[in-house]
Amino acid sequence: MYNPHQIKELISKNNLCINKRFGQNFLIDKGKRDRMISLCGMRSTDLVLEIGPGLGALTESILPGCSRLIAIEKDRGLVNILKSFYKESKGLEILNMDILKYPLPALSSKIKVIGNLPYYITSPIIFHLLKNRDNISSIFITVQKDVAQRILSAPGNRNYGLLSLNVQYYCQPLKLCAIPKGCFFPVPSVDSIFLSLMIRKKPPVNVRDERLFFMIMKAGFNRRRKTFFNALCKGGIISIDRRLLEKAFEISGLDSNIRAEDLNLEKFACLSEALSSLHK
Ligand code: SAM
Repeated sequence: MYNPHQIKELISKNNLCINKRFGQNFLIDKGKRDRMISLCGMRSTDLVLEIGPGLGALTESILPGCSRLIAIEKDRGLVNILKSFYKESKGLEILNMDILKYPLPALSSKIKVIGNLPYYITSPIIFHLLKNRDNISSIFITVQKDVAQRILSAPGNRNYGLLSLNVQYYCQPLKLCAIPKGCFFPVPSVDSIFLSLMIRKKPPVNVRDERLFFMIMKAGFNRRRKTFFNALCKGGIISIDRRLLEKAFEISGLDSNIRAEDLNLEKFACLSEALSSLHK
């Protein structure tokens, strides 16, 4: 792991610059790094995907503890530095790619994903991983504190929304440790949280029509100021017949004045099931 002085030297020696556009904040705290990797519970048989290895602060600690590491880095200059440092290292593949364009492959066992995420695309990366969840066992990521709060929050909280519901439907999220902004160089403007998202074997609620389930959640949060009822019958995303909706609210035991931010996954599922059964 490099200190700020070494990072500056390495970057300028290679005629590069620290690319803010790519969310480049490099981890410089070895104690924190070691704690993070120990929290990942690495096994020698693990297949790991690292998102945005940068100058290799996490890579050097992940590599000895797993059987294969695929590191996806968008910045070609950093890829060249990493490749010349690691040369023929066994078990390591460094790919110059955009993670959002990388379909996670089905390997001999499910992949463990690890990364200090580039903050400008945190949510797109999480949604990309959720889409590829069949090939993933667990995700260990550093995200900005406010994103972590959105992921972990419960109904009634102002941070609660589509990100919370999507992640909690597919994964069990857990805060592992705080990462103060001073652990990075250059120092970012906000503190971060290291999280684990364990992919669930099956969702915590049963819904027969997932498309409808996600659509009603989206509609509810699209019009936060409206009641959930109005967002569903007069919304831009979905427009459900008023009488049908009244019946479905009644079956689900929902008050027509309730707002989407007060509903948990079970309640959304209940309404989605009621609508599906009335549509039959
Ligand atoms: N892992 C390194 C560390 O902890 O020091 C760097 C972390 S830095 C917060 C994020 C890294 O993601 C940068 O190296 C950046 O170039 C890379 N990156 C940015 N956008 C990316 C993308 N779309 N796909 C893959 N890597 C990306």
